[in-house]
Amino acid sequence: MPRYIGAHTIDNGGLHMAVLRAGKAGMTAMQCFTAIPRFYGDKSTIRPERVARFKGALAKTKIKPANVVVHAAYVLSVATPEDDKWARASAGLTKEMERSSALGVGAVCFHPGSAGASDRTESAKRIAKAITEALKTIESDTRLLVENTAGAGKTMGKTAQEVRDILANVPKSLRPRTGYGLDTCHLFSSGYDITASKEAFTRVLDEFEDATGEPPSFFHLNDSATELGSNRDRHVLIGDGHIGTQPFEWLMQDRRSENVPLILETPQQNYEIAEDDESPDPFDVKMMKLLEQWA
Ligand SMILES: [Zn+2]
Ligand SMILES: [Zn+2]
Repeated sequence: MPRYIGAHTIDNGGLHMAVLRAGKAGMTAMQCFTAIPRFYGDKSTIRPERVARFKGALAKTKIKPANVVVHAAYVLSVATPEDDKWARASAGLTKEMERSSALGVGAVCFHPGSAGASDRTESAKRIAKAITEALKTIESDTRLLVENTAGAGKTMGKTAQEVRDILANVPKSLRPRTGYGLDTCHLFSSGYDITASKEAFTRVLDEFEDATGEPPSFFHLNDSATELGSNRDRHVLIGDGHIGTQPFEWLMQDRRSENVPLILETPQQNYEIAEDDESPDPFDVKMMKLLEQWA
C-alpha cells in the first residue's frame, strides 16, 4: 500500500503556488488554507478563477485531490458555550466546507476549540452540531475531520474519548462523512507517550481506533519542541524535538499510515519565497526524504 506524504506548503502568490511547490517537492499529499486562518472566513466565497487555477496546478502534480487536506481557520471554536461565537464559528466551518468542496479536496480538518467554563460533554454536542450543520448544508465528497489537540486550557479533542464523544453525537446517516485525524505533536503534548516503545506507540493508535470505531483519516507529522504532557503546540522539524525520529519510523510501518494523507506542518526555511517562485522549500524536501526512507 502506498504512503501519501506531503506538507502544508507556503502559499505566497496564491493557492495554486502552494500546489506547484508541493508538486516540485515530489509530494503525493498536501495541505493548505482556503482563507486567512486568523479570521472566521464566514463570508469568503471562493472565486471560480481561483478554483480553476488550483485544479490546473494540481493536475501538474502527483497529488490526487483526495489527498489534499484543507486546514480550517484556527478561530472556529465550535466548542464554545457562547451562542454568538458558536453561531459565527459554525457558519465559518460551513463556509469552509463550501470552499473546500468547490476545490474538490478530500477533507477539511479543524480544531474544535475551547469548552471554556462549560461542561465538556455538552461541548462535545455543540461541536457535533456544527459538524452536522456543515455536512447538511454542503453535500459533497469532502469529509469534515476533527483534529486531536495539544490540550491547552479547556480545548476539546485532547483524548480518544473526547474525539469519540464528538463523533458519537453526529447523526448516523452523516457519520461516514466525518472522522478524525491525529497530530503527533498534539498527541505527545497532550500526554500520550508515543516515544516509549513501538508497542506503546501502537497502543495509542489502537486506543483512538477502538474508541471511535475507525482509524485516523490523516496524520500531521510534527516533532514537539516541548515535553510530554506540556499541553503546548510548538512544532519543530522531525528529529529536532522531544519526540525524535523513531516514532515516525514506527508510524510509517503501521498499517494506519497507508492510504491517508500524511502531512508535515514543520517549520519551513523560506517563508519569504517570491510569489512566482515554484521551488520547493528545502526543509520540506529534507523531511520528505526522511519519511520516504521509512515508508
Ligand atoms: Zn491543526
Ligand atoms: Zn499543532
